Amino acid sequence: MSEIGSRAHPLRVAIIGSGPSGFYAAEALFKSGKTIRIDMYDRLPTPFGLVRGGVAPDHLKIKTVTRVFDKIAACEGFSFLGNVAVGRDVTVDELRAHYHAVLFACGAETDRKLGVPGENLPGSHTATEFVAWYNGHPDYRDRVFDLSHEIAVIVGQGNVAIDVSRILSKTADELRQTDIAQHALDVLAASNLREIHLIGRRGPVQAKCTSPELKEFGHLGDCDPVIDPADLALNAACETELHDKDNQHAQKNMAILREFAERPASSKRKRFVIRFLLSPVELYGAARLEGVRLERTRLEGPPFHQQAVGTGVHIDQPCGILFRSVGYRGVPIPGVPFDERHGRIPNRHGRIYDGDHRVPQLYAVGWIKRGPSGIIGSNKPDSVETAQAILDDLHALPTPAHGEDAIRELLAARSVRVVSFAEWKKIDAVEIERGTLRGKPREKFTSVAEMLAVLDGVS
Ligand code: NAP
Repeated sequence: MSEIGSRAHPLRVAIIGSGPSGFYAAEALFKSGKTIRIDMYDRLPTPFGLVRGGVAPDHLKIKTVTRVFDKIAACEGFSFLGNVAVGRDVTVDELRAHYHAVLFACGAETDRKLGVPGENLPGSHTATEFVAWYNGHPDYRDRVFDLSHEIAVIVGQGNVAIDVSRILSKTADELRQTDIAQHALDVLAASNLREIHLIGRRGPVQAKCTSPELKEFGHLGDCDPVIDPADLALNAACETELHDKDNQHAQKNMAILREFAERPASSKRKRFVIRFLLSPVELYGAARLEGVRLERTRLEGPPFHQQAVGTGVHIDQPCGILFRSVGYRGVPIPGVPFDERHGRIPNRHGRIYDGDHRVPQLYAVGWIKRGPSGIIGSNKPDSVETAQAILDDLHALPTPAHGEDAIRELLAARSVRVVSFAEWKKIDAVEIERGTLRGKPREKFTSVAEMLAVLDGVS
């Protein structure tokens, strides 16, 4: 038989997940010059993963990366199989029998826990569910967020926490020009919030958020950033971190924070209060959330390894709603090894392992491979690495038991309504049209049934 990757014997790869890491992996495979067939699966009829369901609705420029993905989708040999859930419609073992390689690009779908009492009180939410809700993700559109209170607390100081804070801080008019889901806009427009507190367990030099995101709070329509200048005092190790020539991230953040701290009191309706060296120890409330007990922390350890250590001093911060934004984690996929501790698939350079045992044919990219870190572009080198691993393994990949069209026949026999990329483009066009009518870039469909009705004419 001819070599895998030749015209007579194309390399067949299933990519599970259609976010940035999956698309960049597809691109790297196509660039190899081999003949390749890629079937990219997504459980939703819509592609692009976190670019659609995670990137903030007011960050429209970031979303233009989908033009790159459109070009990859147009490559010969690429197919999108939307509305197909691995584990529900098809198993991993079945995929292994239909492809040379199965590549998991399914991201980190859930959140890390805070691990403190009261975490599950009504009124305490994860950032992941709030983000998915305002972005119109079908699984989250029916979530309820009560914004009738005056104070919100966001725990964590990464860019997700910043996104959540900004969406809560903006006026309805600022949000109206974005592609935020209408149900979320309606709730946010009626919000009574006056104070949004962003709580970090470490100090301003360690804040994970990036400066362009932080800077936006200086220019909001009806919300001012507030920082107690005392919160910007630095210990010796922080000074060392700040003045490290490679730590421009912290230097830029610190300059912005200092400028915020010097601002005179304002008459704007909302205040975005940035607070450091506070760690939640308990969320309290009788029937629902009434506040969060914070422990004052101090930093201990050498520069760049400083940890927040409790001081025994507690502060109660009343709040009516709280968002835990302390990082994402992956969810296990039936039939695939999983590292519970780190919330990702165990792998070496993208090749999946079960302990020391290499699992043939299975690969990982993106957040499910390396954990939830980095921006969209960080996925590119990560995906190139895994694509190269597949290409290096060509000689060892087993010939699939079934022919190229067999998987489509299997899905059809199970009455799975597979959505192609051309069909997604129809949904896309209707969403843009719906947005135009409201003066927005897009009005997303927020249920799979609505999306399929665009294609099949049944509602
Ligand atoms: P992240 O950047 O890892 O931030 C997590 C935050 O949670 C940190 O402030 C961390 O503090 C804090 N934290 C963790 N455990 C905690 C605990 N037990 N108690 C209190 N605080 C705790 O995660 P993320 O915000 O979810 O973002 C994920 C990735 O997506 C990041 O790489 C981010 O840059 C990226 N992203 C980028 C954009 C953008 O470019 N606009 C937008 C959204 C997300 P410590 O530092 O002390 O651990």
